[in-house]
Amino acid sequence: MAQLTGKNALVTGATSGIGLAAARRLADEGAHVFLTGRRTEALDAAVAGIVAAGGSATGIRADVADLGDLERVAAAVRERGNGLDVLFANAGGGEFAALGDITWQHYADTFNTNVGGTLFTVQTLLPLLNRGASVILTSSNIDVKGAAAFSVYAASKAALRSFTRSWAAELAGRDVRVNSIAPGPIGTPGLSGLAPDPEAAEQLLKNLASGVPMNRLGRPEEIADAVVFLASPASTFMTGAEIYVDGGASQI
Ligand code: NAP
Repeated sequence: MAQLTGKNALVTGATSGIGLAAARRLADEGAHVFLTGRRTEALDAAVAGIVAAGGSATGIRADVADLGDLERVAAAVRERGNGLDVLFANAGGGEFAALGDITWQHYADTFNTNVGGTLFTVQTLLPLLNRGASVILTSSNIDVKGAAAFSVYAASKAALRSFTRSWAAELAGRDVRVNSIAPGPIGTPGLSGLAPDPEAAEQLLKNLASGVPMNRLGRPEEIADAVVFLASPASTFMTGAEIYVDGGASQI
């Protein structure tokens, strides 16, 4: 039975990978899903796919690092009415840069998207969150580990882990829950895109899979299942938590 019938959900970074899989799953569960991303064609394709599968969706082209874009997202949610029940602040990414090679631009790009983008997405949508709403952030299992040449990205995700705790405290009185999902290596265009060419990508994915106790990469749909759990009444006593969906990589 659909668990989110009549609910409104927003997924940022829904044109690809984890966000796209989550948008599809939330729509399958009966939610109307607002999808965002910067690439118009990919956004249109994502919305069309959900509608073709019988779901209900709206696409809004938006950069999470642009306050004007975030206001347009809020306006679209407001226009539909009934507020927002699920906010999956997922847009993000990173690039390798070893200590010694890190530029201000690398730092600013990573933090503006992953940290600022998440912060201002949640803050802009805050007035529209209904009682009982679920806010879900995409952190990473790297937030409790370290990774050579990936320190800025790891620090940005650790910041999201911290936001999760503080915002859960702030919003508990409004009956809004805040949790994060910490994926391990998940087979997405974003993960492959960390490598400079297809050959290097194949090697990178192989290396990452071998570091997972389950000896494989995760699938975006396996993160989407955790999103639905945190969005649904199955998790109503959870807030401030982080769920590791990483094949045991950070735990064993
Ligand atoms: P992906 O396939 O590259 O998807 C990233 C999504 O974020 C795209 O839809 C992209 O859309 C969007 N995005 C990026 N920058 C944006 C911006 N400034 N404004 C709006 N949208 C933006 O990567 P993914 O692996 O699914 O990553 C999704 C999230 O999971 C990220 O936060 C990532 O850090 C996190 N994560 C991934 C893994 C993994 O192994 N894949 C592991 C841990 C955490 P546009 O290009 O259309 O803007």
